[in-house]
Amino acid sequence: MNLPIQLHDSRTRTKILLPTNQIINIYLCGPTLYNDLHIGNIRNIIIFDALVRFLRFQGYSVNFLQNLTDVADKISFRAREQKKTEKNIADYFYKRYLELLKNLNISEHKLIKVSEIIPQIITFVQRLEKANLTIQTEDGIYFNLSPHVQNYGVFKKIFLKTEASVLDGQKFLKENFVLWKFIPVNSISTTWNSPWGSGRPGWHTQCILLATNFEKKQAIIHGGGKDLVFPHHENERIQFLALNKSEPVKIWFHNGFINFKKTKISKSNKKNADSFLAFKWLKNYSSNVTKLWMLNQKPKLDLELNFDQLKFATNLINKFSQIFAQTQTYVFLNLKKLPSITKVNKNDLIEFTNYLADNFNTPVALNWIVEKLKKLNNLLSSKKFIEAFTWMQKLKTALHILGIEIDIPHLSTENCQLILEWDKELKQKNFKQSDKIRSLLTKKKFL
Ligand SMILES: [Zn+2]
Repeated sequence: MNLPIQLHDSRTRTKILLPTNQIINIYLCGPTLYNDLHIGNIRNIIIFDALVRFLRFQGYSVNFLQNLTDVADKISFRAREQKKTEKNIADYFYKRYLELLKNLNISEHKLIKVSEIIPQIITFVQRLEKANLTIQTEDGIYFNLSPHVQNYGVFKKIFLKTEASVLDGQKFLKENFVLWKFIPVNSISTTWNSPWGSGRPGWHTQCILLATNFEKKQAIIHGGGKDLVFPHHENERIQFLALNKSEPVKIWFHNGFINFKKTKISKSNKKNADSFLAFKWLKNYSSNVTKLWMLNQKPKLDLELNFDQLKFATNLINKFSQIFAQTQTYVFLNLKKLPSITKVNKNDLIEFTNYLADNFNTPVALNWIVEKLKKLNNLLSSKKFIEAFTWMQKLKTALHILGIEIDIPHLSTENCQLILEWDKELKQKNFKQSDKIRSLLTKKKFL
């Protein structure tokens, strides 16, 4: 029996239970490949990676997919600016993104570039066209929102003003969005042939096609930063809804911003974004520290960049490493061997997973880990070594679910000898010698 898990859905503004009898398809809007990401951009992948780990730990089958936008005006501008091709730019930032995911220790997940699904996008736009849902202008095929204003704006209760210009006798709302943009072949931009001539797709179609596995299945969870709610997710939803008369997504799960001095860290605020580029950031704060700091706030709320909190996260990660290493050392010292490691399963972490099951409440779950760290210390002091060792495994697993990996030094034969020698010198009251070994063990991070 799977643990009932509920997440807050931005559309219905209610908590919705995840189905327990089917594969959980999760889709997350990925980056546009035109520049390096800043820390505000990586909050969503950190949250979603942890969510996927948690669901898998609970026994759910999960497909996790993220798109990469390698066709976009921003890429064209960057290419022109740097006198390179769009492909050069997108390929370079694709590699950078993969490197960043690796540095952040994000579990492998499926990534699909827009350029890989152009035929499916064209077919979809044709279907929209046949269903009379489009409007053609001089520069492209647009989704015609006029007949759908009642169903639009559900996330933020936005009501479209119906005043509109008239195009070929039809109302043309300024919110109409492009599905296929006409671009002449001789342009420096990458283009594809289509029934409407050369051009390329608009942004909003790629995501809804991928999220719904090309309309085959409803996405169970569709994620992204809250800045994507309007117009991106609104436009994704309306295309599917108008065509299929059903909701494309069960749960829209949006995360908050990261703010610095109460202002969102964003690419449009260049100075602010450049100061917090993810690669640069990771030189000062490890991926463990970054994750602990980010997950110590509810995913939906904004997170203020606070250096005291970062210091707290750094100290806590060090404390985990130290206490786990000490546990290993003292358990070995007293039992003369380490107990065999049994796999921690979901029944061993019920309290922790219950917090996550309620709208992925990561700060409360983290707080539980910190509380149990005290318990681990108490078990060590009261010489309950087997219990202490078991608790260390549980806490390591709980942290692993959140994407935080605490490595402890390997207890090789040589290191085992050293620990036993230290113990012998202590018992014989050769304090000078025991101190020497102790400092060596501390240096090797066993104490
Ligand atoms: Zn998207």
